[in-house]
Amino acid sequence: MIRPGERAVEYPSLGDASVVYIGRIHTPWRYRDDCPRQGKLDGPVCRIEIFEPWVGALTGIEAFSQLQVLYWLDRSRRDLVLQRPRRSEKSLGTFALRSPVRPNPIGLSLVDLVAVEGSSLLVRGLDCVDGTPLIDLKPDHCHHTPSSRPADAGNETGQG
Ligand code: SAM
Repeated sequence: MIRPGERAVEYPSLGDASVVYIGRIHTPWRYRDDCPRQGKLDGPVCRIEIFEPWVGALTGIEAFSQLQVLYWLDRSRRDLVLQRPRRSEKSLGTFALRSPVRPNPIGLSLVDLVAVEGSSLLVRGLDCVDGTPLIDLKPDHCHHTPSSRPADAGNETGQG
């Protein structure tokens, strides 16, 4: 059942734990070594292209100045548990790092939304190579979720 005002599209038939690429990220960087280690909000404008049937899911997004962008770091190896970052003497566990090398190579960046142009978003703050697959977009929760006191935390529904 869906609520009035909601819209569903035909979901591709995939098993659990599969991700659907919902778009592609266009950046000025062709190779990994060209990318910044982390995106900067004063970095270059990049274009996020959304594929059908997900373009309708952009409805209302222009109300937010900042978004969280999740992407699939598709050029990464995925089998390292310990890593030694460049210029470091010490190895660290993958989960103690923001390295793109991880079992599920999900990248997360907070970006400034510059403009919505049809099925594309113009944003600043990314750090991935041109053509990186997009897996999700969320409004930055600082601008979205009403702040609650710790005593109210148990009442959160997880929605919104
Ligand atoms: N901001 C994200 C995060 O913290 O989750 C990603 C950080 S990761 C350190 C960014 C680096 O990943 C870039 O500097 C580049 O070396 C590498 N990278 C960028 N695009 C990639 C891709 N499509 N596949 C694999 N590695 C990529």
